[in-house]
Amino acid sequence: MRINKDLCVNCGMCMNRCPVSAIKKTDKVVDIDFDECVECGVCLRSNVCPKKAIYQQPLEYPRSVRSLMSDVLTIAPESGISGRGTEEMKTNEVTGRFPDGTVGIAVELGRPCYGARLYDAEKIAMAVAAEGVEFEACNPVTTMMSDPKTGKFKEELLNEKVLSAIVEMTVPYEKAESVLKTIYKTAETLDCFLSLDICSKVDQDGNLPHMEIVKKMGVWCSLNGKTNVGLGRPLYQEK
Ligand code: SF4
Ligand code: SF4
Repeated sequence: MRINKDLCVNCGMCMNRCPVSAIKKTDKVVDIDFDECVECGVCLRSNVCPKKAIYQQPLEYPRSVRSLMSDVLTIAPESGISGRGTEEMKTNEVTGRFPDGTVGIAVELGRPCYGARLYDAEKIAMAVAAEGVEFEACNPVTTMMSDPKTGKFKEELLNEKVLSAIVEMTVPYEKAESVLKTIYKTAETLDCFLSLDICSKVDQDGNLPHMEIVKKMGVWCSLNGKTNVGLGRPLYQEK
């Protein structure tokens, strides 16, 4: 995002619209810190500028990934989904991403309101790839990898800043504890916040298999459930 300096009167009204505080006032001059801006579009869409000085410059690759991961209106070509471009894990009964015997793990980097550089997403991805996880194919973060087997990202993307990115994977149940421990250890090396999502199918006895692992590790977990009664969309059928 850019500010037209010929139109701007440095009133500062746009500053508190930016979720990552990229609009700054220095020596009475307001401007967007282009390196910090995640291209979320909020300042422009809020229509707060009395002079219509805020404008969207052409978004070319690799900068375009900022908008893909930060602007709720940008649709990911991989999935046709806006926001961060991937289905929520709780839709597992429709997507079937995490079948019996597996655990779904998603690492959400950058929230709340701080953002993340993609080199931190790469750190997590490379650490868990070494444990043999399978990254979710229908997630734009996976297509940012030059090699999903190693979790290495395309070099030109590493310094791009986004509001949030989700590294999403399926892990065999028996490997889940080790993968979670790796994520906790790697998290200490990151420059950003992260939140962790864990998902598994309720078993025949009504238990959530992943809760056994979480309890064993002694970590706090907010338990959220979702029941699809089958209205409107067909349920995923395991083969
Ligand atoms: S596009 Fe978003 S991140 Fe960039 S300056 Fe505007 S509000 Fe801030
Ligand atoms: S609201 Fe408009 S005029 Fe005021 S500082 Fe921001 S860009 Fe400049």
